[in-house]
Amino acid sequence: MPVSGLGPYDDSNIFARILRGEIPASRVHEDEWVLAFHDIAPQAPVHVLVIPKGRYVSLADFASQAPAAAVAGFWRSVAQIAQTLELEAPGYRIITNIGADAGQEVPHFHVHIFGGRPLGRLVARE
Ligand code: 5GP
Repeated sequence: MPVSGLGPYDDSNIFARILRGEIPASRVHEDEWVLAFHDIAPQAPVHVLVIPKGRYVSLADFASQAPAAAVAGFWRSVAQIAQTLELEAPGYRIITNIGADAGQEVPHFHVHIFGGRPLGRLVARE
């Protein structure tokens, strides 16, 4: 059972379709654990989405249900992708939106990587 208010995993969500190769994405990295691609509506000069290859709706679902190797592999890949994008020195931000209050649009757990310019203070606007 998924640990989330989001309900069970929906195999028709857009990221599931990207993972299956049914719709295109501008891919930046793929390995055993993750697929990373550019966001279709970038909010910064670098805006990359990193998704696990498994069927998880949220961080709670991923953290509690995925094998430990998949959790470690995911976060190591997020860090490696940021380094490959040359964001380590200037800095970057990672965000994951979970559920309705965060405005999560796609119910497949994912991390946003933002960078390429000063990002300002993180504020939780309405
Ligand atoms: P969320 O609000 O769920 O954290 O973020 C979902 C993100 O997915 C949004 O930033 C949105 O622009 C992006 N997105 C939605 N549909 C697509 C798509 O078909 N392709 C790509 N590359 N990004 C998408």
